[in-house]
Amino acid sequence: MKREEVFNFSAGPSVLPTEVLEIAGKEILNFNGSGMSVMEMSHRSKVYMDIFASVKAKLKAALSVPDTHEILFLQGGASLQFSMIPMNLFSELGKYKADYAVTGNFSTVAYKEAKKYGTINVAASSEDKNHTYIPKQSDLKLDPEAEYFYYCENNTIFGTEWKYIPETGKVPLVCDMSSNILSKPVDVSKYGIIYAGAQKNMAPAGLTVVIIDKALAGKEMACTPLMMSYKTMIENDSMYNTPPCWNIYVLGLVLDWLAKQGGVSGMEKIKADKAALLYNYLDESKLFKATAEKGSGSDMNITFRTGNDELDEAFVKGMAAKGFTNLKGHRKTGGMRASIYNAMPTEGVAKLVEYMKEFEAKNV
Ligand SMILES: *Cc1c(COP(=O)(O)O)cnc(C)c1O
Repeated sequence: MKREEVFNFSAGPSVLPTEVLEIAGKEILNFNGSGMSVMEMSHRSKVYMDIFASVKAKLKAALSVPDTHEILFLQGGASLQFSMIPMNLFSELGKYKADYAVTGNFSTVAYKEAKKYGTINVAASSEDKNHTYIPKQSDLKLDPEAEYFYYCENNTIFGTEWKYIPETGKVPLVCDMSSNILSKPVDVSKYGIIYAGAQKNMAPAGLTVVIIDKALAGKEMACTPLMMSYKTMIENDSMYNTPPCWNIYVLGLVLDWLAKQGGVSGMEKIKADKAALLYNYLDESKLFKATAEKGSGSDMNITFRTGNDELDEAFVKGMAAKGFTNLKGHRKTGGMRASIYNAMPTEGVAKLVEYMKEFEAKNV
C-alpha cells in the first residue's frame, strides 16, 4: 500500500505527521550542512548540543513549563518510570506511603511495581466495571501523609481519560501522560512529575520525557541505580550517558509541526472535533457502542464494539483492506479501538465514521 492510502490507527508506536518524516528523510544523510546524519553525531558536539537545547526550549514553550520544573529526556520507556517514581520519591525502602488511582492496565502495573518499595494505598479503582470509567474526585480515598498521588491521565487500552486534575492538597501529583501529552494545555505547576513515553504523541519509541519539580529530586533510596536517579539526570542535563539523540531530534520536528497547528491550544480544538465526530456517531448508532461510560471517554483512544465478536472481526478485517489499519481492540477489552493521536488527520476520522455508517446499514 502507498502511505497516502493508509490511515494508521495504531495505539503505539503510532502515526507521525508526514511532514515530520519528510523533513527527517531529507536531512537523514546530511543535517544542516554538517556532512553527517543526526544519528552519527557525538551527543557532545556543538551541532548536536544546539539541537538538544532547541528541542528542550520548544517543549518548555509548548507546555509552558515553569522554571521550578526540569525537562528530562530519558530511556527505558514509560514503564521504567513505574520503578523510578517510588525509588526516587521514597527515601528508604518500606518506610513511606503513596496513593495510586488504578484505572487501567498501565496504572495497575505501576501500582504493583510501587508496592515493592513502600505502602501503596489504592485511592480509587475502576476495576469493578472493567475500567470503563474514571472515578470522581469525591470517590478518591486520599491520605494526606502520602508522599505522592499517582494516576494515569489517559488509559490507552481501555479508552478512558481523566477530565479533571485531582485535588490532593499538599500531596504532589505524579501523572502518566504517555498517550495524551501535547493534545491540550496542561498546568505543569500543579504537578510534581509528568512523564510520557514518546511513541504515542511525540516521537519514535525509545525516548521518555519526564517533567519534574526539581524540589522532588535528590531524596532517593540509597540503592537507586545511578541511571535511575532523577538527581543524576537533572545535574547532567539528561546527558549523564548518551541520550536517545535521534528521537529527541524528531521530537523537535514534531514540536515545529505542533506549533503550526496552533500549539497545544490549537491541538485541543482539533482533537475535540475529531473525537466528537466519532463519539456523536457512536451515540446515535444502532450497531456500534462506545465502551467507555459517558463523560469518561478518551479523546485519544476511542474504544467501541458491536456486541457481536464475529461482526467486530469482520469490521476490523474489512477496514484493514480499505487501508484503515490497527483498529482491533486490545485483547483485554476486545472490540475495536481507534487511536486518534495528534498526527491522525480529521479526514481519517471522518472517513472512518463514513465506513462505519455503511457497515451499520448492511448489518442492522
Ligand atoms: C504505552 C504506554 C505505557 C508503556 O510505555 P512503554 O514506553 O512501552 O513502557 C505506559 N503508560 C501509558 C499510558 C501508555 O500508553
